[in-house]
Amino acid sequence: MIIVLKRGATKEQINHILKKIESLGLRHMVSKGVERTIIGVIGEEDILRVQPLEVYPGVEKVMPVLAPYKLVSREFKQEDSVIDIKGIKIGGKKIVVIAGPCAVEEKELLISIAKKVKAAGATILRGGAFKPRTSPYSFQGLGKEGLEYLKAAKEETGLAILTEVMDTRDVELVAEYADIIQIGARNMQNFNLLKEVGKCQKPVLLKRGLAATLTELFMSAEYILSSGNEEVILCERGIRTFEDATRNTVDISAIGLVEELSHLPIIVDPSHATGRRSLIAPISKAAVAAGADGLLIEVHTHPEEALSDGAQSLLPKDFERLMKELGRIAEAVGRSI
Ligand code: PEP
Ligand code: MN
Repeated sequence: MIIVLKRGATKEQINHILKKIESLGLRHMVSKGVERTIIGVIGEEDILRVQPLEVYPGVEKVMPVLAPYKLVSREFKQEDSVIDIKGIKIGGKKIVVIAGPCAVEEKELLISIAKKVKAAGATILRGGAFKPRTSPYSFQGLGKEGLEYLKAAKEETGLAILTEVMDTRDVELVAEYADIIQIGARNMQNFNLLKEVGKCQKPVLLKRGLAATLTELFMSAEYILSSGNEEVILCERGIRTFEDATRNTVDISAIGLVEELSHLPIIVDPSHATGRRSLIAPISKAAVAAGADGLLIEVHTHPEEALSDGAQSLLPKDFERLMKELGRIAEAVGRSI
C-alpha cells in the first residue's frame, strides 16, 4: 500500500501516520520526492481496510501497489534512485563503467589491469575473490587474499571496488573491502544471502539469475530493500535461451522495462551475457543506446592465461577504444561516460 501525502504535509502529520502504521504491526518506508512525500507500507496490509488511513490529516490518497514488489516499484518512488559511491553516481546522467578481470589472480597483475582500465575511463574495479564456478575443479578464487589485493589496487589507483559475496558467513568480511557488494546470478534467489546484504551499509549489485524473470529479479531486490538497504543496482547479464551461439542471450528490453517499472538503476554485463570478446563492443553500445546506467566489463592483460573467462575478456587496448566509441553514443542519448 502507498500513502500519498498532500503537498505541504507537516512533519507532525507524517509522524502521526508513521506511529499509526507501527501500531498496526506494519512497517513503513518514507520516500521524499521533489513534488511530494510518499509512505510505503509493508506487511499484512489487509488490516488497512478496517483502519482506513485516508482520514488522517495530511493524507491525499491511499493506493494499493498492484505489483508484488513494493519498495522497488516506480509507483512507490517516482524519482530515479541514484546510488552514490563516494562521488561516483550510478543512475545519474553519467554512465558508470566497472571493469577488471573476472577473478582476482595475482596482485601485480590486478594492479596493472586496474591502472589500464582507469586510464581508459573506468571508475570502479571489478574482480572476484570468491568465484561461483560450474565445476568444483575450476579455480575457486583467492578468498581473503584476493580481497587484500583488491584493497592494494584501490590504494594504488583510487578506483572503487566491486566484488562478489557467495556466502552469508562472508558478508561482513567482503563488506569491509568492497565499495559495492555483488550478488551473482546463481545467488539471485539465495534469500538468506539477500537478507544479510540487506542488513549491511554497502551498495549491492544484484545480477539477474540465469533463468529469472524480471519480476523475480525485482522480488529479490525487494528482499534487500525490505531488510533496510535501499542502495541496490540491478544488472542484466543475459538469460538462458535455446540459442547456444552465445553463452547467454542479452535481454535488451529489460533495460527499458526496469526504467518503466522501477526507480533502481540498471547496468548491463555484456561479458557474461555473450561469453564472446567480439560481442562486447556491440552489446555495450546497444546497452548505452537503450538507456543503461552503466556497464560491467571483463578486461585482462593476458586473457589467454586468465584463470576464468579469458574468452570473453577484452584486452586493455580494445577496452580503451570501446570507451571512446561509447562516449559518442552516450552523447547521442543525452548522457556522458
Ligand atoms: C561475475 O560477474 O563474476 C559472475 C560470475 O557473473 P554472473 O554471476 O553474472 O555469472
Ligand atoms: Mn567472469
